[in-house]
Amino acid sequence: MSEITLEGSLALVKPAWHHLTPGSDHAAGELYQTSLISALLEGIYEGDVTYGELRKHGDFGLGTFNQLDGEMVGFDGTFYQIRSDGSARRVTPDQKTPFAVVTFFEPDKELELPQGVNQEELQSLIEAATDANLFTAIKIDGIFAEVDTRTVQQQKKPYPPLTDAAKHQAVKTFRDVQGTLAGFRSPPYAQGIGVAGLHLHFIREDKQAGGHALNYRIRSGRIQLAALHGFHVELPTSAAFLKANFEQSGLDDKIKASEG
Ligand code: ZN
Repeated sequence: MSEITLEGSLALVKPAWHHLTPGSDHAAGELYQTSLISALLEGIYEGDVTYGELRKHGDFGLGTFNQLDGEMVGFDGTFYQIRSDGSARRVTPDQKTPFAVVTFFEPDKELELPQGVNQEELQSLIEAATDANLFTAIKIDGIFAEVDTRTVQQQKKPYPPLTDAAKHQAVKTFRDVQGTLAGFRSPPYAQGIGVAGLHLHFIREDKQAGGHALNYRIRSGRIQLAALHGFHVELPTSAAFLKANFEQSGLDDKIKASEG
């Protein structure tokens, strides 16, 4: 039996994961990323990669848009743009991104969540069920007692670093809402390339609102996990990227300030 020690409601529950057999699609199991979170931190908010191109590498993921114009969340083959004015819409193939992470989502484990799971409990549950040194794609469909979200705001040149841009993010709390959290658990060694730990984006069931998930409590729901064994990063070749100075300290603090 797996040893899980958790506080609160989860302590009473022995998670019983269903082990699924992932499909044979060789493209599944690989994370495909454009640019680096470090580049976003440096204010590199324009990329040449379109969502049409990214869709060839995944049907699931998260990211942002050129000029940092909102949060992207995608699953079941459809990507959505959530903007700081509270609107949401389907992404069109010609829209470009300075940072996005996608995969073909083929879950290998799933579990009905215990009632009333909070963020810490969910994190413990995911950590117990996944390998710390691999990437994991995570999808949670449920009824949320509460979800705190933020959405970055479209920026104008000269672009400020992400830690400054994040100070003007729109923060919104959803209560008693049905929706989906989608994103990734990334290993500690990925910090700077991506965001180490959990990074999840939320969208309401009606696909009209959501954002980068900051905090949440899940009334009831189902979680699906997909272990990823490959990691492909496509680096920008823009002058802004080539001239950026990444020899700076405080990476951890900056990522936590802007993505935490
Ligand atoms: Zn995010």
